[in-house]
Amino acid sequence: MEFKYVVDQFADIQVLRYQVPGFEALSLRQKQLLYHLSEAALMGRDILYDQNGRYNLQIRRTLEAIYLHYAGDRTTDDYRAFETYLKRVWFANGIHHHYAEDKFVPGFSEAFFEREVRALPACHLPLQEGESVDDFLAKLKPVIFDPDVMPKRTVQSGDQDWIAASANNYYGEGVTQADVEAFYGRMKAADRSATPVSYGLNSRLEKIGGQLVEKVWKVGGLYSEAIERIVAELEKAVPFAENEKQAEIIRTLIAYYRSGDLRTFDAYSILWVEDTESQVDFVNGFIETYGDALGLKASWESTVNFRNEEATRRTRTISEHAQWFEDHSPVDARFKKKAVKGVSAKVITVAMLGGDCYPSTPIGINLPNADWIRRDHGSKSVTIENIMQAYDQAAQGSGFSEEFVWSDVERMRIRRYGFITDVLHTDLHECLGHGSGQLLPATDPDALKAYASTLEEARADLFGLYYLADPKMIELGLVPDAEAYKAEYYKYMMNGLMTQLVRIELGKDVEEAHMRNRQLIARWAFEQGAGKVVELKQRDGKTFVVIHDYEQLRILFGKLLAEVQRIKSEGDYEAGRALVENYGVKVDPALHREVRERYEQLHLSPYKGFVNPVMHVVKDADGTVSDITLDYTEGYAEQMLRYSRDYSYLK
Ligand code: ZN
Repeated sequence: MEFKYVVDQFADIQVLRYQVPGFEALSLRQKQLLYHLSEAALMGRDILYDQNGRYNLQIRRTLEAIYLHYAGDRTTDDYRAFETYLKRVWFANGIHHHYAEDKFVPGFSEAFFEREVRALPACHLPLQEGESVDDFLAKLKPVIFDPDVMPKRTVQSGDQDWIAASANNYYGEGVTQADVEAFYGRMKAADRSATPVSYGLNSRLEKIGGQLVEKVWKVGGLYSEAIERIVAELEKAVPFAENEKQAEIIRTLIAYYRSGDLRTFDAYSILWVEDTESQVDFVNGFIETYGDALGLKASWESTVNFRNEEATRRTRTISEHAQWFEDHSPVDARFKKKAVKGVSAKVITVAMLGGDCYPSTPIGINLPNADWIRRDHGSKSVTIENIMQAYDQAAQGSGFSEEFVWSDVERMRIRRYGFITDVLHTDLHECLGHGSGQLLPATDPDALKAYASTLEEARADLFGLYYLADPKMIELGLVPDAEAYKAEYYKYMMNGLMTQLVRIELGKDVEEAHMRNRQLIARWAFEQGAGKVVELKQRDGKTFVVIHDYEQLRILFGKLLAEVQRIKSEGDYEAGRALVENYGVKVDPALHREVRERYEQLHLSPYKGFVNPVMHVVKDADGTVSDITLDYTEGYAEQMLRYSRDYSYLK
């Protein structure tokens, strides 16, 4: 039977399914370890909803209750728009777009919502203690329907107070940007150690009686009901660890969830990054800070995976030559690492996605985030090949390349080299890019503030782009010939200059860090090349990217890499801000409109995400576990409703 990659499609979203090749061949012990880690991966889902907005859980539960108990006609416009809205909320883990950050505009009427809420018995509604249905509606209706209430999840530009303007729930009512900067600024200033903790990472900062108070996410603290479940499941995983070191990693994570002590989190991160032996691996916790306007607080996420041994040989080759790459990069010698340490690299197969990695998921991971741990202990880089494979398979035959690529020459190259150079670019980005370079001794690691994420992604992308075209890649047997890199260069420029704009609503700016980074690089190289390197050419009233000089384009990527590294190493906030604001944020409205119109005619979705496989525990007659099997038949709404039913612990 052929594997069906596409599961569902709505609004600007396509939901895919990924395969987990190699799972059957794992040992029973490994499968049981994966099973318990996978359960733990699903148990933090509610945490993310609440982090993304204080009403998200109540709204999700209300919408699900309507969806399950609706007695009316399911073919009316109101109902269909309602269903789409619910699917979008599930996908975004809240009422704001997962990428664009804007609040969803419901296509159904306020009257429909009110009528359906009132039609439900009160026991199906997530009412707070003593709350009437009238109060409940008065509270939620503006949150859902009024465009001026909580319009944006995370605000990271403009002159306004970013914290006050952001709808997310990382800070309590009344907390201002100045409060946060002063509160954590004092902590950082008081800490003279070379190994500072990630201040603020695992708490909500609230203002109580005029005082700022951190409410820590831990057992006995905020989100305790969910964290206790995660801990209990991690405890079940320990006996199946592949080795003592891995058991210690899990136990240290448990200790951190219990104490909330960020020093224990660092101890866990060090153990985790140093484990390069175990085949099974996982991320579970408060990890990435993209969702906080000031980059302090981390969203909850999880991935569970195992190493793809064959593909890992490729990234091992890259990381074994890490020092060569560092030494030969176009970056100023003062900003290079004299000894590149601990660049571990592997290709993985994910078996479960949770929290901020679900349904929308990254294709590569590079952790931990703490600068000093990376400096002293290295970082772990992974490429998620089964996810990339699913994207690639789903894109075949979509008509996209026929519409946007300039000619058959580029199309042939992309067909021939597109997947391997794409995977390699991700490998280089994750294995070498993020780990390369060093800060000058006096530089504050947080100097780039809200621009840090975009510039960091640009640095890693540029490192990958620069080396993809290097003869060393052929010498190492990573690309077949000197033509291959052109496939990725073309795709990158086309995406950054044009096609990624399909993800942005008309009239809006580019917001998300990875998208800003790609536009920054593409626009900068386009402008620097002054039409001789890269051109935007018209044909039949349509705009195309034409690359005239690939070698010169590589030189430009090298130049920009050197500059972005300088900005990071020196903590040059002004130069960093200027690069991002001048090249990464603003959109040409005419080109934007054109690209979206052409894209819409293809009826494709700009955003993709995934449903997970279902893990089944197979038992013998006497109750002992004999196997864990994977089932790929669950639908999108089915999975979301099951997760809401079986893995929902927060009030
Ligand atoms: Zn990255």
